[in-house]
Amino acid sequence: MSKRREPYLLGLMIDFGMLGKTAAHFFVAVILMMFLQPFALAGGMMISERLQHADTIKSSDFTTFQSILRDIESESHTLSTKQQIYLNYLNGYEQGFVGNFDVSMRILQSVVHESEDMGLSLRAQSTLLNILTIQGRFTEAFILADDIAQHALTAIDPTARLHALRVVSLLYNQSGLYEESLYYSTLALQKSDQARDACAAQQLIMESYYRLQQAEYIELLYPEAVASCQQAGDLVFESLVHYFYIRYLIEFNDLELAEELLIAHSKKLEKVSYEALFAYYHALKAQLSFLLNDFYAAEASALQVTTRTEASKYYESHVIANKVLFQLHERQENFESALYHHKKLLLTLSQYRDTQSERTRSFHETRAVMQAKNQQIELLSKDNELLYLEQQVLNKEAQNARLLLGFFLLLLFVLGIFAYRGLVGRHRFKFMAENDELTGISNRYHFNKLAERALQHCKKRDMTVGVILFDLDHFKQINDKFGHATGDWVLQQVVRTCRNFMRLDDVFGRLGGEEFAILLPGCHADKALMLAEICRDAIEEINTKPSSYEFRLTASFGVTSSDNSGFELKQLLADADKAMYKAKQSGRNQVHFFSGPSEPSSVAGTSSS
Ligand code: GH3
Ligand code: MG
Ligand code: MG
Repeated sequence: MSKRREPYLLGLMIDFGMLGKTAAHFFVAVILMMFLQPFALAGGMMISERLQHADTIKSSDFTTFQSILRDIESESHTLSTKQQIYLNYLNGYEQGFVGNFDVSMRILQSVVHESEDMGLSLRAQSTLLNILTIQGRFTEAFILADDIAQHALTAIDPTARLHALRVVSLLYNQSGLYEESLYYSTLALQKSDQARDACAAQQLIMESYYRLQQAEYIELLYPEAVASCQQAGDLVFESLVHYFYIRYLIEFNDLELAEELLIAHSKKLEKVSYEALFAYYHALKAQLSFLLNDFYAAEASALQVTTRTEASKYYESHVIANKVLFQLHERQENFESALYHHKKLLLTLSQYRDTQSERTRSFHETRAVMQAKNQQIELLSKDNELLYLEQQVLNKEAQNARLLLGFFLLLLFVLGIFAYRGLVGRHRFKFMAENDELTGISNRYHFNKLAERALQHCKKRDMTVGVILFDLDHFKQINDKFGHATGDWVLQQVVRTCRNFMRLDDVFGRLGGEEFAILLPGCHADKALMLAEICRDAIEEINTKPSSYEFRLTASFGVTSSDNSGFELKQLLADADKAMYKAKQSGRNQVHFFSGPSEPSSVAGTSSS
């Protein structure tokens, strides 16, 4: 047979060159046959036009196609990204065509990923599917076909869509899955508005009808398919249409018409130099000749098949040829030869069936894988749903936790405020309990407490303690004349004035009304008298103008010390009070010292009232 690099049979196929070891590869390039129209390479075309031109002639004029590619590659730096990807696609096709499948698949895969043109991406996928099918990688092919089929149904680019549908249909055809093949080729036919596309789809449909024994449809389709293939000038596809129709006629015993058609088209069938079509034609001729009792012609044709084509490529034709040879020899009672051919028949038959069942098995495996995948996707989406819900719950929980935390923080804050206020309150309460609200010095209760503590301390260390008691003179009159507020103001000014002369450990208290006491630890009588005199003088000097009134302000002082009155507070205060009483009696604004239980002696004092 022809060893040239050119289509070698089976209508739709193009020889992918040096690859052909298995039968699988001969359906290679069904798709490539879509562009058989010859084109002349016009000079001075733009790069985009040259790429398109190369694309159009790639299956019909491979040599020119290659030289255009080399030309474009030499100026690849001027290509846009889109043009570069288009060129890559054509390179991928080229590599596939010459049998560099790995290189081709790598390039095509990159086109699938990089191309933004969905049509080109789909075409690259379809070519990939072709290569997988040629290589007998059916499992991968079926998986890819699934993908392509889905894209093909939604593809906008009509060329890419038809290409894809036909490649998928062809894969199923080659796998003996004719119903599936029929489905996709019927879709392709519906979308074909050109004779060439219609013919390519119809020849696939023709085979499906034949395999599925759909007699009426075959009858209807046959004239239509022949018409479109003749219009398209596609001899290979037309031959295949005749082939299946004649096989159908033989099976339905219309041998006369079968013979008539075979003779009518044998010239065409012989003209096509495709090896597969050669095997088909001779097997058919052998079968028909045997049935017509032309044993000589039958044997000659059968031997053409068995001796001139490889069984592994054309099992079916070899089965037919061996069956004819077996029947011939059996009929001629040449049992030895009959047995020989019977053995060969059984062998090729089992190989044929193995190949078919292998492909069908791949398909079902793939189906199972795809279903499992889909189920997994479903499960995953269920899982995702679950995860989403869990996430929602977690979010809710986190939200609740945040709320709870916020609540606790608020609680803590409130408690803190309460605690602070409690603390402050306690302090405040303590302060209020211990100090006079108006003047800020110790009240009687607190003065007593502090004084007792100081007295004990001084008593232990044998330190003299001085005590001053003083009372404002005629204070009632101040209240009466200038109001209570002025009285309050006076009380505050008096305390502030006297405080200036006191040491840190002196204890100053308001015993009540306008009566004050000062306990002076480590202070002898003279010092105490001196301080009393200073205070008396300072009080007298207080400027009352800020109170809005001008009036005289004085106080009477009684002084004692532990040396005279002992360390008992009660006694000390009583004695000081006695001395103060004396100061009042002596005309006020005076300081009197309690010199002894009998009579206090006036130490200092000025009375102007
Ligand atoms: P003497 O010179 O004899 O001490 O005469 P006096 O008027 O100062 O004495 P008396 O005890 O008659 O009057 C004391 C007045 O002090 C009576 C009271 O209204 C007034 N008083 C007591 N506590 C306060 C106070 O906190 N604020 C004011 N504004 N007046 C007070
Ligand atoms: Mg008074
Ligand atoms: Mg008084």
